[in-house]
Amino acid sequence: MTPLTARNDDTFLALDIGGTKVSCGLVTREGEVLFRDSFPTSQWPTPVAMTEKIVEKLKNIWTNADNGRRPKALGIGAPGWIRPKEGVVVMAPNIPGWRDVPITRIMSEAMDLPAILENDANLYALGEWLAGAGRGSENEITLTLGTGVGGGLILNGRLWNGSFASAAEVGHIPYDPWNGTICGCGRRGCLETVASATGMTRVAREWLAQSRETIYKGKPEEINPAIMFELARRLDPMSLFVFKTAGEALGLALATIFNLLSLEVAVIGGGAAGAFEFIEKHILETLSERLITAHIQEIKVIKGTLGLNAPLVGAAALLTAAGY
Ligand SMILES: [Zn+2]
Repeated sequence: MTPLTARNDDTFLALDIGGTKVSCGLVTREGEVLFRDSFPTSQWPTPVAMTEKIVEKLKNIWTNADNGRRPKALGIGAPGWIRPKEGVVVMAPNIPGWRDVPITRIMSEAMDLPAILENDANLYALGEWLAGAGRGSENEITLTLGTGVGGGLILNGRLWNGSFASAAEVGHIPYDPWNGTICGCGRRGCLETVASATGMTRVAREWLAQSRETIYKGKPEEINPAIMFELARRLDPMSLFVFKTAGEALGLALATIFNLLSLEVAVIGGGAAGAFEFIEKHILETLSERLITAHIQEIKVIKGTLGLNAPLVGAAALLTAAGY
């Protein structure tokens, strides 16, 4: 057995605040999740109540895990509009009451640890890059198909935030700006209106409203990508159409991104990536039509491997890059 050096024996606390669930964990510098716990976001109606609960959970993890050894720092992922440098969640549309919450200061003081805040999709991308599907790559984009389509960009082995910490907002890349549906952002025809889990569900409901052919017998309000995945295996025309539409939209967006940045890998994660086997073909067909590079065979589009652990793993990469 190779002895561990002091540096790679280090651990970090990780926190991922999501619209439906809050996850906390303890991760090694290499991205191994040693402990993980989660609770429903809706259980705690105010930021104060939630942060108190989070502190309790993190202190529990700290005390019980790893012989009570002190983690180096805390990495925090949050959705919505954040200011990473100031450590503030400006607004999280899916979490009621979260406005101008100085989460980094609150957590750092309560835990007596340095803390860093980052966009949840960026943490996800860092996680897949450190220890998941994008491991070993220099230039990676990760798309997460959930409520929206999140994005995280790694360039030259580092997270790219851009000038205003708003890089990789891929969900709002135009897909059909003339005839598409109005997006949650108020604009027409963004990528996520067809390629997020919510968008796929919406496309399916439109199909049902038009009484088109399907083997789905349930209520329109109960359809979701997981059900469609099962139906697609039985060649349901509706589900196959939904995944084809999502795949073509993702392929178009990725062609733009690849042509602009010359990346080597795109990782597709998030809940609706469960249907990757039905989406993949359409992504690749659209990509190969649109890509300019001669290195098309070397480009990979792969399903994420870390699932719900990805943002926690990403915290280790974020904190390592920050020098902890
Ligand atoms: Zn939009």
